[in-house]
Amino acid sequence: MYLPWSYIHSFECNACGICCSHFSVPLRPNEALEISRKLGRYYVEIRKDRLFLRKESRSCPFLLSSHLCYLQMLGMKPRACKLWPFYIFKNPEYGRREEAAFSSKLGTFYIYVDPRCPGIAIGRPTEKLMSAIEEAVEIWLGLRREQVLTTSSLKALARMGHESMPKIAQIEDSWLLSSIGPQIPEIGELRNQSHRGALYRLE
Ligand code: SF4
Ligand code: SF4
Repeated sequence: MYLPWSYIHSFECNACGICCSHFSVPLRPNEALEISRKLGRYYVEIRKDRLFLRKESRSCPFLLSSHLCYLQMLGMKPRACKLWPFYIFKNPEYGRREEAAFSSKLGTFYIYVDPRCPGIAIGRPTEKLMSAIEEAVEIWLGLRREQVLTTSSLKALARMGHESMPKIAQIEDSWLLSSIGPQIPEIGELRNQSHRGALYRLE
């Protein structure tokens, strides 16, 4: 069951990787096309006329052992992954209209949260949560690509034992993709290596 955003106190992604292991990732056609073209058709599957990222051994093949997302490093992280655990609609699709309504300078949206994310705490919403939701709305509308509050922080990654992480924003920047051009390494080579190793190979 999804909860209206106003039931949520805070969200901090702790990089646990649960969302990358337990759920299917729906793709938009342009995302499926880009992943197929740059990484291989294998990584996109069609189920009942819908496009999904193919999972391997019940996990996303792009989840690195450092708990970072290889697609994020390439500037190709799907929108569904960027928005999790938030679900954004123009109408109150899951009910509780008043509690789900979120108004910002961009308009009124109806926002629900999946409480299965361990980074979610229930309670009175904080300012930081509202800023994270504003960021999610901008991503949903296609007004921004960079994630700051809706992804794991360096502190969270360090707590998980992944010290010396470069800035997520640096990884997200498209300079990485443009600098490696068509020579994107095989994901199979990368996913069991540390993030530092992966970056080393990409450079
Ligand atoms: S979004 Fe939630 S489930 Fe996904 S890695 Fe972060 S804390 Fe874990
Ligand atoms: S694409 Fe990245 S964020 Fe999405 S499920 Fe895979 S590893 Fe996780």
